Amino acid sequence: MATFHCVTTLVETLKGHWQQYRASGDFTLFVEFTVSLNSLIEHLADRHLPGLARTAQELENTALALFGDATRHPLAPDQINAIEGKFFRLLDELKRHEDPPLPSRRHSDPFADEADDAGGRRRSVLVVAAAEHPWLKALGDQLASFGFPPRIVPWFGLTADEPAPLAILCLPDLPDAWPANAVAAIGELRARFPASHIYCLAVPAELESIVRLQRAGADTCVPVASGSADILVRLLDLVREDETEADRVLVVEDSPTASVLVRRALSQHGIDSLAVADPRRLLEAAASYRPDAILMDMYMPFCSGVEATAALRQMAEYQALPVIYLSSESDIAQQVEALRLGGDQFLTKPVNPVVLAAVVKTKIARYREMRRSGQHDGLTRLLNHSTAKMRLGQRVAEAQANGGRLAVAMLDIDRFKSINDTWGHPVGDQVIRNLAWLLRGRLRSSDLIGRYGGEEFIVALSGTDLADAVAQLDRIRQDFAMLPHSHDGGVIHATFSCGVAALADHPSAAALIGAADDALLEAKRSGRNRVLAAGYSISHS
Ligand code: GH3
Ligand code: MG
Ligand code: MG
Ligand code: MG
Repeated sequence: MATFHCVTTLVETLKGHWQQYRASGDFTLFVEFTVSLNSLIEHLADRHLPGLARTAQELENTALALFGDATRHPLAPDQINAIEGKFFRLLDELKRHEDPPLPSRRHSDPFADEADDAGGRRRSVLVVAAAEHPWLKALGDQLASFGFPPRIVPWFGLTADEPAPLAILCLPDLPDAWPANAVAAIGELRARFPASHIYCLAVPAELESIVRLQRAGADTCVPVASGSADILVRLLDLVREDETEADRVLVVEDSPTASVLVRRALSQHGIDSLAVADPRRLLEAAASYRPDAILMDMYMPFCSGVEATAALRQMAEYQALPVIYLSSESDIAQQVEALRLGGDQFLTKPVNPVVLAAVVKTKIARYREMRRSGQHDGLTRLLNHSTAKMRLGQRVAEAQANGGRLAVAMLDIDRFKSINDTWGHPVGDQVIRNLAWLLRGRLRSSDLIGRYGGEEFIVALSGTDLADAVAQLDRIRQDFAMLPHSHDGGVIHATFSCGVAALADHPSAAALIGAADDALLEAKRSGRNRVLAAGYSISHS
């Protein structure tokens, strides 16, 4: 898991490598230092700490400039000083931003604020803007509705005790105009909050302004034309605790030495791996290990890497799995042939460990994104129908195995057809998206949320009983009813109805969905805009 604990471990490793290099001046130890620095950068980026990643990258650039030539080692004192200056600055910033341990959450407490789910910093947003800025009210209201109550401070009005927020949104006084003093203020924010994500809004669509803001430290420049919806989606992504399973790589390589070297480089970058020495074991290993990528040797006993890859590609489930060839082969024609036959990339042994990890990470990220988009709905980015159902099955099995609680809710927007008919499909779409965002913003990142049908959603709350689930969804229902959905001519309001069932009474995924659906129907019949528990007719509630 990419937790801060992991960052701490990486930092300790990094410090160790630097001390060893300082003691010996040995070039290979300098390489180790650079490699562990590179993995630290990736972890910081994964954890959405772009400011810290940037500081670490400055150090990496300095180190990489001294990387190519072994005869320059041990380094001269001024070069050592240059590295240590940046290194100590990085350690300093890391120390300042080490997260306090998150308060453990009582799953069963219906009165706990869901927005606090992930601790203070995770949802705190600072808006920097003139108090009378015309966009401020709407932006602030929208952020608050979706679970990000902002703190608003004027430009240059930050006090010394302002805690580090998750995100900083900066609104210039005039749209499309970022004067020099505002750009300088971004630089100050960057220096002060290296771990926060800085958004500059109303940026003119021209390279010069964007580059100036990036240099000052902006992470995201939002063009003047795009609305605040864009920012909300990004904020929701920022807090989404990734289903951070470590990347898994299957190493198919007959040489034990090559295998050990490759796996070492992978593990230094937090990538899990499994080695297979005989290609005849490939299919069996792929089925049980479920790798995100394969590193494939070219020459092995029994068959070549190209043949093994072609065999793998015969199976539908491995058609998109990244395969990266590793070989001492330097013949271009051979390499082209290997790629043509189903490989994705060719790396020549001995592979630079930094390059290897970078290639593997990139391929895996693209592959995971592809798998992700197949499991998510395009309009809302929630799980799609079939994936939500499959994951619910897994949750039910888990809860049954360890005696845990689980509640399922089905939600359906009320009289949605008339919203479409009166205001048009795009407005209807926005209402659907707003409900999706509200659910994502209010529920825990560990809860399952899916788009079950057009304007129908499914939610599964782990560790939650019936009464807690009803209470939680009822608060979301009330908030949704108050949420304004804007359209060209003004705003409209919408409501939803909801049925809830608990695993204790309905011990299978199908039974849960059926019971929640029945309760939803009852909620519709009895007047809509309400949350009903399964098995309770309206007279009981
Ligand atoms: P009820 O309160 O009983 O749920 O009434 P309703 O009008 O919401 O019920 P119904 O299920 O008849 O209407 C759902 C409508 O949702 C029908 C369909 O045209 C529309 N719809 C389905 N998917 C989408 C979508 O992605 N976008 C938009 N804008 N409309 C959609
Ligand atoms: Mg070999
Ligand atoms: Mg419906
Ligand atoms: Mg409906």
